[in-house]
Amino acid sequence: MRRTALSLALSASLALTGLGVFAQPAGTVDLAVTRLDCGTSPGPSDVARFSDVFTHVGLQVPIVYSCYLVKHGDDYLLWDTGQSMSAGAVAPKTTIVDQLAQVNVKPEQIKFVGISHYHPDHTGQVASFPQATLLIGKGDWDVLTSPKPPPNANPDRFTHWIGGAGKMEALPLDKDVFGDGSVIMLYTPGHTPGHHSLLVKLPQKGAVLLSGDLMHFRENYDTNGVPTINTDRSQTLASLDRVKKIAAGTKATVIIQHDARDIDRLPAFPAAAK
Ligand SMILES: [Zn+2]
Repeated sequence: MRRTALSLALSASLALTGLGVFAQPAGTVDLAVTRLDCGTSPGPSDVARFSDVFTHVGLQVPIVYSCYLVKHGDDYLLWDTGQSMSAGAVAPKTTIVDQLAQVNVKPEQIKFVGISHYHPDHTGQVASFPQATLLIGKGDWDVLTSPKPPPNANPDRFTHWIGGAGKMEALPLDKDVFGDGSVIMLYTPGHTPGHHSLLVKLPQKGAVLLSGDLMHFRENYDTNGVPTINTDRSQTLASLDRVKKIAAGTKATVIIQHDARDIDRLPAFPAAAK
């Protein structure tokens, strides 16, 4: 009798503790992911340059440029900002701001802009969101703010934040964006020093993992090919290993942002995965 009463009391207190710890349990917040078109593909291109293990010489894959709108209750995270409108043949047909208008989201509702890495095809329209808190890997921030940034970094797009007028966080490791574990920027360095991928735990679809440029096409992900332009090969391999384990553990849908064959892993714009 006494044991039963004790265990009941223990269960009750554990349940109460649980409520305290998980004040906002996963699944109660309105979460959604919408893909935005952030650049057009001129057609299939040879992707062998993205792999240094010579396994896919001659393989042609349509390369696309993707950004994502992540809704978390009344707040929004914009993940990557794609090509700029002046990028010529690969420029998007519609600005991110105009695409957001089609789903009734104003630029000032974007609370966070998360940047996977500093390359120009991921930062093209960041300046359209000056009110947002910029989230970017510390290693990449250090490159953007270095005395001589490399030619494939565009610090001018970040003038608002570099000059101190905008809120920003330079992330040394992972970042739990909304503090409830539902949207996590994963530290996955190697393509660039501060590269991040994004994990979103959707209540219905399940986990979705957005690659950034940890990998550029499906076959490359499967064979651990590394682009020769990456800043660190061993970091890339460690990041691939981590992401594959996270994807297996969370049963995530892995979406390679540049691989056109992954576009239909999310509903077509303006629909959202929930
Ligand atoms: Zn890149």
